Amino acid sequence: MTRSVAGPEIERLIQLLAKLPGLGPRSARRAALHLINRKDELLVPLAKAMDLAVEKIIVCSNCGNVDTTDPCMICTDPRRDASTLVVVEEVADLWALERATATNARYHVLGGVLSPLDGIGPEDLGIAGLVERVAAGGVGEVILAVNATVEGQTTAHYITDQLAGTGVRVSRLAHGVPVGGELDYLDEGTLAAAVRSRTPF
Ligand SMILES: [Zn+2]
Repeated sequence: MTRSVAGPEIERLIQLLAKLPGLGPRSARRAALHLINRKDELLVPLAKAMDLAVEKIIVCSNCGNVDTTDPCMICTDPRRDASTLVVVEEVADLWALERATATNARYHVLGGVLSPLDGIGPEDLGIAGLVERVAAGGVGEVILAVNATVEGQTTAHYITDQLAGTGVRVSRLAHGVPVGGELDYLDEGTLAAAVRSRTPF
């Protein structure tokens, strides 16, 4: 048992901060002190923002995105191309694609990938919802933007099978040399995939 440096309220704050990704106990203590030292300008507004977020956050029943309205802002934005759906594993992937302004399409968040070893089957993911959205019509293309992992690719194949016969075009992200990447530093799998998926110059 490590010795407490402060009362239970502050210890609790440190414990919770330590659960955040990228923060260990040491950086959690630093973050807690930072918040405490800037109580009015940081700790109070943060607590209020968190309270509000808890109250407002809702999962979009259409696409699985996290927002404060259902359907979410992306699903209701008329400037979005509703004929293309980008399938992602997690909301974090949706945010990454949005940050990159990579697409103007709408999304479908699976909430994970197929993983029999972890007991995650199709019924645990938003696959049925995706099939329903495609069956409802108006979708011409589904872009599978899943991770280039074994589970991600297994999931992509499963979805492709589920969408077979619907007439929708199914595509996936290119695999290859990253922008700014040097061939010498790439792993063999990436290099081999890049050669296989070469494009005309
Ligand atoms: Zn949505």
